This record gives sequence, structure tokens and C-alpha cells, in this order.
Amino acid sequence: MIGSCLCGSVEFEIDGDEFNIYQCHCSLCKKQSGTTSNSSTIVGSDSLRFVKGNDSIKSWIKDTGFRSDFCSNCGSPVPNPLRDLDLYWVPVGLLPASVKATVVAHLCTSTISTWHLVGSGVAKFQDVPALELLKQMLAGRSCRG
Ligand SMILES: [Zn+2]
Ligand SMILES: [Zn+2]
Repeated sequence: MIGSCLCGSVEFEIDGDEFNIYQCHCSLCKKQSGTTSNSSTIVGSDSLRFVKGNDSIKSWIKDTGFRSDFCSNCGSPVPNPLRDLDLYWVPVGLLPASVKATVVAHLCTSTISTWHLVGSGVAKFQDVPALELLKQMLAGRSCRG
């Protein structure tokens, strides 16, 4: 399916139409998204291709490694490569409404917004879990906490 930023300058194609996703409630993700958390998934870099707008993408990288790529025209966050790993971080709000997404994990719940309601039966992590565990959960192969 095709995802795009707010203004449509940046478009990308992602394999599949059903994703396990996570919401991160850390202070950085709140500021990046402008809301209580981001809603994201992580896919292999072979599953995502930019269709257009590469030259519209700007990157901000904090000294800790936190990276935010965004459309320089409208400000939407867009997928960014995860460190030097063969992975892309994907904000799923850029995908069409027809996407089937299931929240499998809440990250950094120690800083969750008081007005953000979290359903039961979804794994919650006070902090950021190991990337390998998160990847397994997003791939649907792991336990729910
Ligand atoms: Zn845009
Ligand atoms: Zn975060």
C-alpha cells in the first residue's frame, strides 16, 4: 500500500496491508508527533520503497541517536532508517485508513500522558524493550505481556 505525508510530496510503498504496531509514550515521541505517543511499526528495509519526494525529506538526529525524518514542506514525520540496521521505522498514520493495525506494545509507559487510555491485554514496557523483542512482537511471533 501507499503511504504519504500531509501534503503528498513524499510517497512510499510498503509491502502488506496489516501491521502490528506499537505506541511509544516517551517525551521525544510526544514532541515529534505533537500528541500522546507515536503509532509506529518497524519493517525490513526491503519492504519499503520511497516513490517520490526523497528530496523533500529533512532529517533531525539527536546526539543520543533519536532520529526524526520529516517532510520539509508540511512537517509530517516520514519513515526513517533505524540506525545502521536494515530496518525502517514507519509512522502508521501515514498509511490509508484501510490499513489493519493492531497495537501490540506500549513503550515508555512511565511517562504516559494522563489522558491516554490504554487497553488491557497489550504489553506495556516502562522503558524501551530490546529491539529484538520488539521486532518479534511486531512480527507477531512473541508473547503478549
Ligand atoms: Zn509533505
Ligand atoms: Zn519514544
